[in-house]
Amino acid sequence: MITHAFASTPLSPIRILVVEDEPAIAESVLYALRTEGLAPTHVTLGHLALEELRREAYRVAILDVGLPDCNGFDLFRNIRQFSEIPVIFLTARSDEVDRVLGLEIGADDYVTKPFSPRELAARVRVILRRSGGSIAQAPRSDEQKWAGFRVDVDKQRIYCEGHALELTRYEYRLLKTFLENPERIFSRDDLMRRIWTAPDHSLVRTVDSHIKTLRAKVRSVTTGPDPIQTHRGQGYSWKLGS
Ligand code: CA
Repeated sequence: MITHAFASTPLSPIRILVVEDEPAIAESVLYALRTEGLAPTHVTLGHLALEELRREAYRVAILDVGLPDCNGFDLFRNIRQFSEIPVIFLTARSDEVDRVLGLEIGADDYVTKPFSPRELAARVRVILRRSGGSIAQAPRSDEQKWAGFRVDVDKQRIYCEGHALELTRYEYRLLKTFLENPERIFSRDDLMRRIWTAPDHSLVRTVDSHIKTLRAKVRSVTTGPDPIQTHRGQGYSWKLGS
């Protein structure tokens, strides 16, 4: 059961800052966020973003990496000097994705252009849910719980309804990634980059075979619809509420 604790009221709008200089992209993002009942504010420049964040209590910031007056990474570092706001990067190229992942600068998420504004809004929702009612992000515990699933990070084991799943190393990492990012669509490349120690993109079909075995193991301990969703031409996601 998922509770939407962040439902907006006129007295407490949930402010999201969108920093994006391309009008068409900004417009579709704002539309998707408003549809979710959120209150987005849009700025096109990094220095305006800093002013906004100092002025208002925002819950999530969405930062385009390529801005006219600075890049999103520098902006992010400036933000971190005074705020712990969760950040989602909008990246245009794979080398930007590599920087988000490689620098481990503590971004909460990223999407690669072109992206679905609805999917972006869903990820904002996930971050809000994770951070609960407070503005600061909730600390991560070593043992996290999701509907029916429990991850023991120390033992690298995942339990479903109390039963330990017999997972290989990569299946464990796949399932943990899904549980931590419900409803997010991961391409095979995304998964390979996040999970495999030596990603070899020519072997991207390996992801499919691990998904297949993981799916069978999850299905053997759950009832109801398959939580691992296949999105044709896009990748895989974990369905919330399953
Ligand atoms: Ca841009």
